[in-house]
Amino acid sequence: MSVVDRQEWDVVVVGAGGAGLRAAIEARERGARTAVICKSLFGKAHTVMAEGGIAAAMGNANPHDNWQVHFRDTMRGGKFLNQWRMAELHAREAPDRVWELETWGALFDRTQDGKISQRNFGGHEYARLAHVGDRTGLELIRTLQQKIVALQQEDKEETGDYESRLKVFQECTVTRILKDTASDSGSAAGRVSGVFAYERESGRFFVLEAPAVVIATGGIGKSFKVTSNSWEYTGDGHALALLAGAPLLNMEFVQFHPTGMVWPPSVKGILVTESVRGDGGVLMNSDGKRFMFDYVPDVFKEKYAETEAEADRWYDDPEHNRRPPELLPRDEVARAINAEVKAGRGSPHGGVFLDVSTRMPAEVVRRRLPSMYHQFKELADVDITAEAMEVGPTCHYVMGGVAVDSDTAAARGVTGLYAAGEVAGGMHGSNRLGGNSLSDLLVFGRRAGLHAAQYAMGLPERPRVDEVQVDTAAAEALRPFSAEGPAPGEDIGEGGRPPENPYALHQELQQTMNDLVGIIRRESEMQQALKKLAELRVRARRAGVEGHRQYNPGWHLALDLRNMLLVSECVARAALERTESRGGHTREDFPSMDRAWRRINLLCRLTDPTGGLAATDPVRGQIALTRETTEPVRPDLLALFEKEELVKYLAEEELYE
Ligand code: FAD
Repeated sequence: MSVVDRQEWDVVVVGAGGAGLRAAIEARERGARTAVICKSLFGKAHTVMAEGGIAAAMGNANPHDNWQVHFRDTMRGGKFLNQWRMAELHAREAPDRVWELETWGALFDRTQDGKISQRNFGGHEYARLAHVGDRTGLELIRTLQQKIVALQQEDKEETGDYESRLKVFQECTVTRILKDTASDSGSAAGRVSGVFAYERESGRFFVLEAPAVVIATGGIGKSFKVTSNSWEYTGDGHALALLAGAPLLNMEFVQFHPTGMVWPPSVKGILVTESVRGDGGVLMNSDGKRFMFDYVPDVFKEKYAETEAEADRWYDDPEHNRRPPELLPRDEVARAINAEVKAGRGSPHGGVFLDVSTRMPAEVVRRRLPSMYHQFKELADVDITAEAMEVGPTCHYVMGGVAVDSDTAAARGVTGLYAAGEVAGGMHGSNRLGGNSLSDLLVFGRRAGLHAAQYAMGLPERPRVDEVQVDTAAAEALRPFSAEGPAPGEDIGEGGRPPENPYALHQELQQTMNDLVGIIRRESEMQQALKKLAELRVRARRAGVEGHRQYNPGWHLALDLRNMLLVSECVARAALERTESRGGHTREDFPSMDRAWRRINLLCRLTDPTGGLAATDPVRGQIALTRETTEPVRPDLLALFEKEELVKYLAEEELYE
């Protein structure tokens, strides 16, 4: 049996991006002893990479902006599949969360009259993104970290120990949520009792015992070959929740950001921020045509300019002109780029052109888009003040995620489990608007921390950690060191086979998801993907590594494969089930949005409810899919829309109701 260190906390937050840090601050401020645990260095999370800004209806750029307009834009962007109560809370609370950041020391760019500056982004009716150049996420994380240090200093004054009430465990990976299934929890799946984790550098195992766990682990992009996501984003939190017994919601909705770098190959997928278009950049094909005017769908026709002249006037006079179609929601722009490339009108390296060089003076480009200027200069030897960029879609964000209660961020079905940020589902419906993630992290990070703390502090007795689960988690984590021979139930003939290489498996998985469950989906290809995933799952059980537990990235990847395979199966199964096109889910065989599907959420659960993986059937897979009717939108929120618009989205019976 392995040595496993223990510590006791009230709340454990898994993930130190914006959602995790905001949750931890709230939990600690409510009096809960809080531990934060993150896979990479403290401060190195996707949040830090966010460029464009935080969407919040503060009305600084346009006094007509308010939470109702933001709510409407978010629902339209998500094609009305959003968990509407989340969209409401988000729109109402985002401004307070931004002002709060300012009181904690964040330095936003200012307007001429000294207010927080707000910039344009796709799908937002008014300029709404509070920003710091194109490095907004960096300032957000810096501010939250500073707040954490300030709280730790307070604790040192009182207790003599900086880490007595708020401690960060960096470069540690959680592999299992532990549960107390014995005591009466009121929940079929039991209640949370802590997490099992390993330290990446030493390979040391440890358990953080806690009655409440907040999952804030971000996205799943590393399951796809072309992605803006970095190495940590292997869908761990999604998988941890599934394994703990919580369902995942609408996993078919994966956002392909329209503008990733396409050249050189080593940087393919790296993000080109939407601010480039928000600040005036235009998309062109190889004929030099601004093609987005040909791709405005009916539901958006009234809101977007029909001519280049009107689109260009909008930047200076948004009151009297309609916005340029380059600022349509991301799913529309990504599909349009895909269609242009497919029609043979792409750029030399398989993208299209994005130009700011003819739209603004070089010095303005360097001031407003400093990161983009350096990114292209250093990585592609392209001077964006003098020539166009080449861009194409890249897997960026997952709208699907842990099914949560809108108000409390509590995960469904597992008492004591909470989820916030990108890992949580519902808020963005079928497609997220740019800038709505950073605000989502702050609004629901805070709510998750608050409710986790209240729950943990209100318990009469702490849940018990089940030693069998700890031993099983340790054995599971060690398996790659002794991975030989067939997986259970696998017939490999005589002689056996050598262990599988985790890197090779990962590449095959990424290629499969990219080619078969990517931006445009077809039934036959998704069937093929599910077969391939089943094969990879069997092979992944034999993923083997050499060496020892001290810093061993191959071992870490072997463990991450379990998560990526689980999440990929959810995406493929849900995408196959939803026979319509909506937001981040495009079916070539069902190209239109179908109003009847607006009422349907797809939930993925593990077929083996004990959370063990050995017993799953390789052919049937690990995931069971169920349909659930969405909750009707509250009438006062529906009243914010014109009836003619609702007709485009709502099912017949909903309109009648
Ligand atoms: P993250 O910030 O992704 O943090 C996740 C944390 O979980 C990390 O600390 C990670 O180490 C940890 N973790 C993961 N797995 C484990 C595990 N098993 N054990 C322990 N820890 C774990 N959104 C906007 O609104 N505006 C923008 O301008 C914008 N620009 C973007 C630019 C880029 C390049 C990218 C990639 C994304 C951008 N987004 C933007 C999206 C946004 O940044 C993310 O959706 C958001 O930051 C996610 O935040 P989070 O707190 O949910 O998770």
